[in-house]
Amino acid sequence: MVNRMASRSCKHPADSFCYVCGEFLKTRAKKSSVQASQRMCEAYKAYFGMPVGDQDKTWAPHFICENCKRTLEGWYRGEKRAMRFAIPRIWREPTDHTSNCYFCMVDPSKRRSGKNAQPVVYPDIPSSIAQVPHSSEFPVPTPPAAKKQLRSYESSQSDSEENEAADLTDTAADRVPYFPNQHDLNDLIRDLGLTKSNAELLTSRLKQWNLLDNCKSRKKTYF
Ligand SMILES: [Zn+2]
Ligand SMILES: [Zn+2]
Repeated sequence: MVNRMASRSCKHPADSFCYVCGEFLKTRAKKSSVQASQRMCEAYKAYFGMPVGDQDKTWAPHFICENCKRTLEGWYRGEKRAMRFAIPRIWREPTDHTSNCYFCMVDPSKRRSGKNAQPVVYPDIPSSIAQVPHSSEFPVPTPPAAKKQLRSYESSQSDSEENEAADLTDTAADRVPYFPNQHDLNDLIRDLGLTKSNAELLTSRLKQWNLLDNCKSRKKTYF
């Protein structure tokens, strides 16, 4: 098997393809080295739930296309972007150039043959497992940035709820009836300028209604 691979080199170098989506990178297309794209690697792990791998292998691509980089990094920052797939292309060591080698089987030359040209066929083979599109089973993941925002939103929500609860407690405390004592009543009588008979009437009524705080035991219930 090793000999079959060693007998000739691939039609296209592995680095002519995007590590993430597997698309052929045109010579002049903007591309980035996977290893130099720390942010993209973090985003890749967060999005797909698996780390970037095989960068020490010659049979895996070491570059990513501009579209994958921008989308992953944008999603990671919390922008409304999503990849077209939930599982990226997975690379394994090719075993032979004709039936299990992505770099020999993909023919990007068809791309140049006009408007009605057939799209480049990207095979799904053991050494290069095709992406799995998003579905209800594989929804677009929530970016860490949004999760953080959600967390802070939730905590700010609970903060305000706590504040509201505190406000309610204050209000409830304010609403506990206050029973004036004799001293309060004397102040009120003086402030109103009541005559002695009117003052006596008020006092007797308040006592009658149990509104005068002359009962120590009742007061105790509030402390
Ligand atoms: Zn090959
Ligand atoms: Zn790509």
